[in-house]
Amino acid sequence: MALNSDLQTRINEVVERIVRGEIDFHKVDELLEGNATVVARRLALERLTGTSLPNIGSTVIDYDEIKNRNAENVIGAVQVPLGIVGPLEVRGDYAKGRFYVPLATTEGALIASVNRGAKAVTVSGGARVKIVFDGMTRAPVFALDNIDEVVRFLEWVSSNFQEIKRVAESTTSHGKLVKIEPFVLGNNVWLRMVYETGDAMGMNMATIASEAVCDFIESNFPQARCVAVSGNMCSDKKQSAVNVLHGRGKTVVAEVLVPHEVVTKVLKSDSQLIHEVNLRKNWLGGARAGTIYQFNAHFANIVAAIFLATGQDMAQVVESSMGYTWTEVRENGLYIGVTLTSLEVGTVGGGTRLPTQREALSIMGVYGSGNPPGTNAKKFAEIVAATVLAGELNLLAALANRELGRAHKRLGRAVKV
Ligand code: NAP
Repeated sequence: MALNSDLQTRINEVVERIVRGEIDFHKVDELLEGNATVVARRLALERLTGTSLPNIGSTVIDYDEIKNRNAENVIGAVQVPLGIVGPLEVRGDYAKGRFYVPLATTEGALIASVNRGAKAVTVSGGARVKIVFDGMTRAPVFALDNIDEVVRFLEWVSSNFQEIKRVAESTTSHGKLVKIEPFVLGNNVWLRMVYETGDAMGMNMATIASEAVCDFIESNFPQARCVAVSGNMCSDKKQSAVNVLHGRGKTVVAEVLVPHEVVTKVLKSDSQLIHEVNLRKNWLGGARAGTIYQFNAHFANIVAAIFLATGQDMAQVVESSMGYTWTEVRENGLYIGVTLTSLEVGTVGGGTRLPTQREALSIMGVYGSGNPPGTNAKKFAEIVAATVLAGELNLLAALANRELGRAHKRLGRAVKV
């Protein structure tokens, strides 16, 4: 960044004040404008820590575009390699055709692995995908005096649902309150509110709407005190039975029947062996280890790599990678299906608007609002599930073939094998 001397002088002054401990990093936003704030914070940090951070400082992100939206105290950006998988044939209700899927990762062999799975899925006719649930949730927790009031509160919420819905939807043009699932523990009540959120992942949308509902409830049913707008029955960024059983974000199923000759030729494997690995590893090993909600080989690998590439909320990999891999050996091939119970994705809002993330979404034709709204996020969810399917198929085959360590030596440690 070429700086005129006046701006350079102002940055230097701010850097000196941070180093002397006179101002905090966030105060810089009040003293400088735009990317100059990023430069000042970074130069001060370099002085404070005795480090040199030219690479963190090298970014296409314009601070004005992310200020008050995506991050605070910004000093630059980190970069992660981005690879591509595909073509992957997807036969969903929204994603139809062949797609190239961007994966951001530093795990050598991951992209190559998913890519071979994608080839096997595609030559088998593609992944069939269905979304069986769609709804983002927020669950405020209310404290009441006793169980009689709890019961009266539940009846009041049920009989005033239309009014509560009107209040929630007055805060958003895309969000719709679909239902309220109540949960009780002693004199505590959680109202798990389920929203349709269009193409947004919807967490801010659902939170803002739920805060309005809490205010409305406290004004009209004052015996119920809203303790917190998020009462952990939501459940955001945590693994939980409620998300697995009731769904959060999108519950998506992807399946493919891989002909035995494709298993042999593309995966260099054997259907029966792959099935055995799935049963003894994913299911039996998972049960023996006390795994809950994740009877799969590596959903998290694919979910995290796509989330990172496309500006999703990375902490939601926790619940978005919950799910199950099912296999059957049939006369005409190996059936494999993956079920992701709580896939939380958006194509508008959050980090999706950052320059490189936006391009990554565009590769799949899913950036921005769908027409009608909601269809882009659904299309994206179907592509994610199909890619997870490809990743599961190939890892199970690699394990059956005993090639996992070799592949990681070659592609993860640059060792010739
Ligand atoms: P958002 O960027 O806060 O909101 C989405 C925005 O896009 C809304 O202003 C919405 O307008 C607008 N919009 C335009 N076209 C749309 C379309 N086709 N479909 C849906 N909305 C459309 O994003 P969000 O998905 O609600 O929240 C995601 C962010 O929340 C992420 O940054 C995530 O890290 C963060 N997050 C927040 C919490 C929390 O508790 N607040 C928790 C976890 C994560 P309307 O609202 O008028 O419809």
